[in-house]
Amino acid sequence: MLTKIIIANRGEIALRILRACREFGIRTVAVHSMADRDLKHVRLADESVCIGPPASSESYLDIPAVVSAAEVTDAVAIHPGYGFLSENADFAERVEQSGFIFIGPRPETIRLMGDKLSAIAAMRAAGIPCVPGSDGSVGDDPGETLRIARDIGYPVIVKATGGGGGRGMRVVHAEASLLDAVSLTRAEAGTAFGNDAVYLEKYLENPRHIEFQVLADTHGNVVHLGERDCSMQRRHQKVLEEAPAPGIDADVREAMGARCATACRKIGYRGAGTFEFLYEDGKFYFIEMNTRLQVEHPVTELVTGIDIVKTQLRVAAGEELPFMQDDIRLHGHAIECRINAEHPTTFRPSPGTISLFHPPGGPGIRLDSHIYTGYEVPPYYDSMIGKLIAHGETREFAIARVSTALEEIVIEGIDTNIPLHRELCRDAAFLAGGTGIGYLERKLGIDH
Ligand code: ADP
Repeated sequence: MLTKIIIANRGEIALRILRACREFGIRTVAVHSMADRDLKHVRLADESVCIGPPASSESYLDIPAVVSAAEVTDAVAIHPGYGFLSENADFAERVEQSGFIFIGPRPETIRLMGDKLSAIAAMRAAGIPCVPGSDGSVGDDPGETLRIARDIGYPVIVKATGGGGGRGMRVVHAEASLLDAVSLTRAEAGTAFGNDAVYLEKYLENPRHIEFQVLADTHGNVVHLGERDCSMQRRHQKVLEEAPAPGIDADVREAMGARCATACRKIGYRGAGTFEFLYEDGKFYFIEMNTRLQVEHPVTELVTGIDIVKTQLRVAAGEELPFMQDDIRLHGHAIECRINAEHPTTFRPSPGTISLFHPPGGPGIRLDSHIYTGYEVPPYYDSMIGKLIAHGETREFAIARVSTALEEIVIEGIDTNIPLHRELCRDAAFLAGGTGIGYLERKLGIDH
């Protein structure tokens, strides 16, 4: 096994990685910003290195700082978590060139999948169904752009090739606004992602977001762990996730999962990854692949009994996957609520000191969070402060358990979106299952 790793992230995921390392006896180094000295995993790690000021650009995103931390602490590998440098191919390359193990796919794979257009091309070639759209990026000729959109049929969505995190997308309902939307998205993408290429896709009106988790080792073994439904979204950001997806039959799951596993073999995938699809009228359309651990991985862990983070560590150490596809069985249902430090109706971020914290408990309850009474949520980072996950024998029992836990949990001193989750758990359409990606915004009265 690996001897010592750098945890190049913060918050709940850094703690999650630390816990997995402990099970293998791997020593841990927390690299953190000046604002994060009091993070739980920083206190618990075997060593910690402060790599810069609070701004992520000067700390968590500072490639030389992270790599030098590995050098001075004599670590052998770097786990990037999610967000920050996790899907930065230059970082992965630099890590490997400096002689460390990058806990993730090969840098070439990250690069291929990080560009949405090359990802779509690779996936089409590997037999994965994609959303109808422009063949490559749109050029400078307005006439040509209009023609492409007409061929696809309105509404269309303008997407930045280098986009991510729900940014760099614009829906166009009528031809009159197409060219403006293209130039706006282009300009924003240039500034935000350093790449102003954009492409067009058919905008699906109310699909569901269904994604497949895969795991691959370096010996040619690939498995899929079934799917998650992440349709409950606000501003293209997931709010609540579940596994399995309501209404997806076992044979459909097997067929799609097998296609994803085959695609992984074709591109020489390594580690944990997710194929994201939009699902409408019984059909799957690939939108992107995430080449990293995802926020919502615990729902899959609870229904499969497989520890995805420990598997990442095994793969990074060169071990074979300790299971084959036939060993993977789904048990019951799991629901995850993302707990954010934000106002439940205005969604305004709510940093500050947590004056009181009581975690929920009981059978089937898992809380992945770094917060504690007295912890100060800094204003510099993502507002997610934890994830409440519940497992039950059926979807109904999982919802009942998560509802009870949402009543039990106490977080005082800051605003959180817990009231929103409580309401969702009583929502008739959610209880029925299978709502589309536009559902939550419509419920909240958000109009586009
Ligand atoms: P990001 O990399 O920013 O997460 P994605 O391509 O994964 O971008 O899309 C994020 C979300 O945007 C999807 O979950 C879905 O809600 C919406 N979306 C993306 N493409 C389409 C499309 N063609 N039609 C409808 N909605 C879409």
